[in-house]
Amino acid sequence: MKYRHLGKAGIQVSELSFGSWVTFHTQVGIESTQAMMAAAYDAGVNFFDNAETYAAGEAERLMGAALKKLCWRRGSYLVSTKLFWGLHAGPNERNTLNRKYLLESIDGSLKRLQLDYVDLLFCHRADPSTPIEETVWAMHNIIERGKALYWGTSEWEAADILLAIEIAERHHLHKPVMEQPIYNLFEQHRFCKGYLPVYKDHGYGSTTWSPLASGLLTGKYNDGIPDGSRGALKELGWLQDQLTDSERLNRVAALKPLADRMGASLAQFSLAWCLQNPYVSTVLTGASRVEQVQENMQAIDFVDSFTPDVMSEIELIFGVG
Ligand code: NDP
Repeated sequence: MKYRHLGKAGIQVSELSFGSWVTFHTQVGIESTQAMMAAAYDAGVNFFDNAETYAAGEAERLMGAALKKLCWRRGSYLVSTKLFWGLHAGPNERNTLNRKYLLESIDGSLKRLQLDYVDLLFCHRADPSTPIEETVWAMHNIIERGKALYWGTSEWEAADILLAIEIAERHHLHKPVMEQPIYNLFEQHRFCKGYLPVYKDHGYGSTTWSPLASGLLTGKYNDGIPDGSRGALKELGWLQDQLTDSERLNRVAALKPLADRMGASLAQFSLAWCLQNPYVSTVLTGASRVEQVQENMQAIDFVDSFTPDVMSEIELIFGVG
């Protein structure tokens, strides 16, 4: 495993990291959680992603329980969580980045994770109804109180990120240092175009999500939705159109000979492709079983196989990012 700086921050993250969305609690319990985290850690992963909203707090609870059992040295791994959607229905507790919600919610996350601090804390979405200045101050205060080490954004507009940086610089506050955006072969535009000034001019880091487009890029949906897959989950019915879209499936099929030539599985190929982009700090992987973790971690063996010719062939299938 190689490690990359989170943008220009001092901290380094493994090129592949491991997240808990959908899987923890909804698909797997404590034993699988622990086994998958151990498989990732043994492969060199040092960053584990979570969010308050995942399984309504239960994903944090499971990760906390697994960490407790795994007894890893705290300095050897990073944990993140993300705040925005909230767990309660009150007017100040949902879809918000107001000061009260942020300062109170971080305590709930830390309790569920059984940690004194998270390494990375994200504003899970932007909140147009709270002044960015209020959010920047609250995130700064959370860091000053030792409850998070770095803070960042997820799926914010580049203009809002730039504003948050400017406010923090003006008041000498802790600046946001990383974004958590979607990035995969189907979703290239925003990462490659929209965020470019933020990465280039401000050294913003990135922890990219859904590298396999929820599994579509493994080829597992080429013959329909397999039992036991994410696509079969009733609560994610909205995903099914994307996973069965014939135009998307044709592109995945066209990718297969390229992966075969490399000796990689489609999953490994698609993960390694993400790492071609120098503005990616870490690719957040997801898995519902240990075998997937083991397969996915081997993606790092193929990062150097993406020659300009291979990249041109990919562009013919997916277009230029
Ligand atoms: P992917 O797009 O990589 O999808 C992961 C899913 O694909 C797995 O859960 C599994 O689903 C399937 N899969 C993975 N590897 C394989 C394999 N080798 N063979 C077959 N199937 C495989 O990533 P996620 O969408 O899970 O996102 C990764 C992480 O990013 C999340 O855990 C979360 O931490 C973060 N995230 C952040 C968001 C944000 O808004 N900031 C939004 C979404 C995710 P199954 O076996 O069930 O089919």
